[in-house]
Amino acid sequence: MLLISLFLLIFSLAFSHYPRHVKETLKNIDRGIYGVFGTYEQVSSKNRGFISNAYFVITKDDVVVFDALSSYKLGKELLESIRSITKKPIKYVVISHYHTDHFYGLKAFKDAGAIVIAHPWSYQYLSSEESQNMLKARRQLLSKHMEGTELIRPDITTSESLTIHTGGESFEIHHWCRAHTNGDIVMYIPSRRILFAGDLVFGGRVPFLGSGNSKTWIDCLDRIMQIKPLLLLPGHGPYLKGEEAIQKQVLWTRQYIQDIRSVVKKLYEQGLNIQEVRDKANEEMLRINPEYAQVGAFFDVNPVNAYYIYFEIEREMLETPQN
Ligand SMILES: [Zn+2]
Repeated sequence: MLLISLFLLIFSLAFSHYPRHVKETLKNIDRGIYGVFGTYEQVSSKNRGFISNAYFVITKDDVVVFDALSSYKLGKELLESIRSITKKPIKYVVISHYHTDHFYGLKAFKDAGAIVIAHPWSYQYLSSEESQNMLKARRQLLSKHMEGTELIRPDITTSESLTIHTGGESFEIHHWCRAHTNGDIVMYIPSRRILFAGDLVFGGRVPFLGSGNSKTWIDCLDRIMQIKPLLLLPGHGPYLKGEEAIQKQVLWTRQYIQDIRSVVKKLYEQGLNIQEVRDKANEEMLRINPEYAQVGAFFDVNPVNAYYIYFEIEREMLETPQN
């Protein structure tokens, strides 16, 4: 008997890891606010690309969605998850940034009549060869899981702020600064201090700094510290409740960015070339804080971040007037 239960336990641990439907992860986070939570790892056919989170808010009249997951199928599953709770129309889908795992599911919501809101950077991204190459690579990697996926452009863009008033709720949409990408959008419900943060705040994992701006990312994090959210809903990993838990995570992200910037700057000033900076990045970071060794993806992502930050530091040095 014991053996059988042990076997069942191992079996369920091994297979329950990857949800077969997005709905299996559906959580009611707060009044009218729900989330689905992808596995916190790289895209693979095992996880079907379900590696990010998406959220939705049910108002008196309709539904506002934040992020659309990483394929048409997953977007449809998100829509089915919403439909299991409410039949109200999906009015808006706000996209935090045009990285594959946040907008590839949009087609499902366009078909349902939703209006898509994002930053204008999305246009630039969708017109680039990079976005086509990425789509091709993702189709190769995920094959049947990618069926029906199309690149959908937003209907409304903002590079500053706008407020949506719908169903008795107000949603602020902000582009505060270039951070994780050049077009990060957050959504904020000021009356309840709830922040949908996209990929601005990371916990337990090294953030990717290769497609935005690390210097202004720090400003964005300061902005979050100023508004003191009570609930923070990130693009990856578990959501955070309470000022203290949120501040801790925001400060951790801020510290990591500051540390990698100071390491690269120091090595740059010592005259090391980009390859040498990349090779020394882990060792130098661990000298500042040995605990980085325990952080997910540190050994793989940190050198890549150092590589990109080298260009940023170089540009900053050239832009700063020398006295
Ligand atoms: Zn991202």
